[in-house]
Amino acid sequence: MKKVGKVKVETSLKSPDIFVRTSRNEIEGFDRSKIVESLIKETGISRELAEEIALEVERGIKALDLEFISAPLIREIVNVKLLERGLEEARKSYTRLGLPVYDVTKLIERGSNENANLQHNPETIHKLVADGVMKEYALLHILPSELADAHMRGEIHIHDLEYFATRPYCFQHDLRWFLKNGLKVDGTGENTAVAGPAKNAEVAVLHAAKALAAAQTNFAGGQGLDFFNVWLAPYLAGKSYREMKQLAQMFVYEMAQMYVARGGQTVFSDIDIEYGVPSIVADMPAVLPGGVVRDSVTYGDFEEEAIKFAHAITEVYLEGDYLGKPFFFPKPNYKLRKECFRKEGFEEFMIAVHRCVAKFGTPYFLNLLAGYLPDNVFAQCCRLVLSPDANDWKDFERGCMRTGSLQVVSINLPRIAYESRDEDELFDLLLERMILARRIIEIKADVIKRGMENGSLPFLTQDVDGEPYYRVDKVVRSIGFVGLNEMLKAFTGEELHESEAAWNFGLKVIKFMMDTAVEWSKETGLRWVITQTPAESTAYRFARLDRKYFRDAVVQGEGDSIYYTNSSHCRVSANIPLFRRLKIEGSFHPLCNGGMMAHVWLGESSPSPELLWKLTKKIATKTLIGYWAYTKDMTYCRRCQKVSGGISDTCPSCGSKDVECYSRITGYYQRVSGWNEGKKRELKDRHRFKFGESP
Ligand SMILES: [Zn+2]
Repeated sequence: MKKVGKVKVETSLKSPDIFVRTSRNEIEGFDRSKIVESLIKETGISRELAEEIALEVERGIKALDLEFISAPLIREIVNVKLLERGLEEARKSYTRLGLPVYDVTKLIERGSNENANLQHNPETIHKLVADGVMKEYALLHILPSELADAHMRGEIHIHDLEYFATRPYCFQHDLRWFLKNGLKVDGTGENTAVAGPAKNAEVAVLHAAKALAAAQTNFAGGQGLDFFNVWLAPYLAGKSYREMKQLAQMFVYEMAQMYVARGGQTVFSDIDIEYGVPSIVADMPAVLPGGVVRDSVTYGDFEEEAIKFAHAITEVYLEGDYLGKPFFFPKPNYKLRKECFRKEGFEEFMIAVHRCVAKFGTPYFLNLLAGYLPDNVFAQCCRLVLSPDANDWKDFERGCMRTGSLQVVSINLPRIAYESRDEDELFDLLLERMILARRIIEIKADVIKRGMENGSLPFLTQDVDGEPYYRVDKVVRSIGFVGLNEMLKAFTGEELHESEAAWNFGLKVIKFMMDTAVEWSKETGLRWVITQTPAESTAYRFARLDRKYFRDAVVQGEGDSIYYTNSSHCRVSANIPLFRRLKIEGSFHPLCNGGMMAHVWLGESSPSPELLWKLTKKIATKTLIGYWAYTKDMTYCRRCQKVSGGISDTCPSCGSKDVECYSRITGYYQRVSGWNEGKKRELKDRHRFKFGESP
């Protein structure tokens, strides 16, 4: 027996003098056999070798003449012995994951700037510590080292690496399914209360909010509800406009205030709003209060409610929160359909929507007038816009349309230009990088299938007519890209907007990616798509890495504030007329079958809603832009609590310097102070549109 403080501890006979602080928070005497057993169990090496290593470790520790040693340190000493024997794979299995004390202290004291959605609070500190371990786990244990290294070198970027081992990316839900079947927020109903089908509008709205929040616990990315006002319309029969607005307010506040998802954030959510009931769903039997479906009652019977509710929710967005700040989530996507223009009151509705554009920039527009898009597309998250296939339509008719993206891996396009001497090499390298992305996404598919089998994704394994709620092989597998503009500058000497030749070569590059994805889809029966990456941190990360490795890297910005242009956008600072920009950017939209987005950066503090609506009509009819938003910069004053247009370091109303600026980072609005240095520089560089300039 030996005394440790006031406690007597039983020591091993073999080494009575050393105590181990174990990872179970206990103190034990050192016992060599524990090393032997753990080595055999965790690495699969032979007993003989394990004993030899353990003995060496014991001798080494004894020579240090310590009274205490921690279990993690013993483990690292064992790892050195494995490395000395060239057993790298065994070391990878045996090593520990974790963060240096310094890093944890920094996270606790200062937080992190990597994700603009994260406030500095106790939940996010836990998330960031866990993220550190989970990222390391994915790179070290799940991915083969050549794939992990390609990410670390910045040839490609694996998005949401912290969730690679546990969750798929984003998802679009069908509210009708929850309205008809009720809600099990934990997926099984064993850990939480189970709700039956909503019988009235209040509960229907709350179920919509809770379904999104519940799903967020199993997904890394955005959660969307399509046909939001249409599926809710039957619950609104007989309600006054005032009552509807109250319900709309309830939903928006629920989504904008539930600060509980993914380590203390609001749910990354969006809703699609229709003007009335589109003809493609008008004859479908409606899910009615209580989950009842009668063939004789269809959604078309609730046209008036759908329109009124669309107005009500738009008004809620227009008013902003109690302080007059805009709502950032749920993002409202307004669908523009040809048939809308024939409906009475549409112009008036759109003026209301554009009042909200003028004030806050909140709305997003989905352009179904673009000839290459089908009758309906599903949009969610930052920019995922998916065209449904035949199976999707079947689900749609059955009332449980659901889709999403399993994982996004992005290609660093400028890097490919730096590394290739001619066009053949460039396309060879591009294909090579796409194959890396494909292999990573295939591994991700296996990870999620295993997760569903072992019960770690209960929301996803809920039963839908004998199938799981989430179907790994039906969602899309997304390959993204960053910096086409800088690739063109490096390879052709000109930027995307500078010459037809550069533009055409850009189209050739993205067309090649799209053709490859289409070919892979045919070959595998799975859905491979090309997407315009929402690169909040990737555009910054790629640019920094490339400047480190390549002396003549073409980056935007300077010093530490550098970035690449997102996806196939024109350089944000390019001084070109708006419609030239939209024409160039729109030409890439039909090639991005996994999602696209264009931005119109507004340069006026109070643009006219009427002029904005005219502009919207022109974009919808004269360009190939499939999805876009107007971004209005705003400054919020903490002293007088006023929101004013534009980015400013002093409040224009009271002169206070205690202000916070807001703008759209890529696919959503966020506090500018949370942005990385690259994105802050991009914000400065953005060429903003003003009416009166030649559009
Ligand atoms: Zn003020």
